[in-house]
Amino acid sequence: MIRSTLISAAAIVDHRSEGATVSAAQIMGLVASGQATSRAELSRLLGWAPSTVSAHVQELIDSGLLEESGEGRSRGGRRPRLLSVRSGDAVILGADLGGHHARIAAMDGSGRPQTIKDITLDIAAGPEPVLEQIGDALDELRAGRPVLGTGIGLPGPVGLDGVVVGPSRMPGWSGFSVRQWLAERFDSPLVVENDANLMAMGEAVARGPELRDFVFVKAGTGVGAAVVGDGRLHRGARGIAGDISHIRVPAGGDQPCSCGNFGCLETIASGAALVAAVRRDGGTVENTADLVRLARDGNPIVTTNLRFAGRQLGEVLATVVNFFNPQAVILGGALAGCDLFIAAARGVLYERCLPLTTQDLDIGESAAGPDAGLLGIGRLAIDQGLALAAS
Ligand SMILES: [Zn+2]
Repeated sequence: MIRSTLISAAAIVDHRSEGATVSAAQIMGLVASGQATSRAELSRLLGWAPSTVSAHVQELIDSGLLEESGEGRSRGGRRPRLLSVRSGDAVILGADLGGHHARIAAMDGSGRPQTIKDITLDIAAGPEPVLEQIGDALDELRAGRPVLGTGIGLPGPVGLDGVVVGPSRMPGWSGFSVRQWLAERFDSPLVVENDANLMAMGEAVARGPELRDFVFVKAGTGVGAAVVGDGRLHRGARGIAGDISHIRVPAGGDQPCSCGNFGCLETIASGAALVAAVRRDGGTVENTADLVRLARDGNPIVTTNLRFAGRQLGEVLATVVNFFNPQAVILGGALAGCDLFIAAARGVLYERCLPLTTQDLDIGESAAGPDAGLLGIGRLAIDQGLALAAS
């Protein structure tokens, strides 16, 4: 039943309308998040003609993904018919993994988390024990319900085939196919992505369709980025697009990097590098969370190092912004909670970029918050399910 509804809905994926590339997931996302409750609101938010919106909505209703749920308040004309998502009890399962924890969720058919759980793990234990633990936790959340999609976010580079490629902080994972492992356990569309890519798509869900071209930077224990163009994740030829961590920065000097090179951004602006730098300067820190806490207390060793790291990140982002001309540069991850880190990066962007690129550039903290990765899994699982059904 689910497959047949997806097949009907797939007909409108990748449809071009009034110059904009659209997907059924965009309409589903707006309705599910409560940003749009009627055809008129969808038309306003998406900038499409009412007749175009009505046609798409009718296809989604016919395919069983949307339903009409009563009438809204009239603004002078006929009362609008309210729209809501219809997914029965089917769920999307998602797990966003970090080095020592994972945030997992069961989401409804529109990618909205219903149940969220935080679990602890040790990514250094290697892929099989970690994925077993995640699989068991997801099965528990699933509680026997049908699954529309399953997704995992990983804190390292992931190729298009779902294989982890040379991660800095995931010993034993390089070359492991997470997609194959998931496929053997979950019979559903699968999403296996780098965490920054997922957070970027979560940001797109949280901010709505007006945000179309942006760079998302995840600044946590590691540093990574993702690129979204015209509302779609840009993965590149092998899935590694946006990985800024191994771009060389002048201040990197001859600092050895996990990639075998020297002076990469990761050796200066990642949480791990900052912890090491603060310790070298005589500070007492264990992890990235300590850095954030001490920065808020105004600890001079921490604030000096964070400002310096923020400026180095800004140097790399200035090149990216000049090249890509995004609407926004959005920072997520633990270090994005430090205003002075963002301010230092912003300062360099204004210094180094062409005025036309920074005139309306939004540089700031993620709006999606800690659920960004899960929202991204929901969004990509819906896209993936529709694409699979169409093939
Ligand atoms: Zn490197």
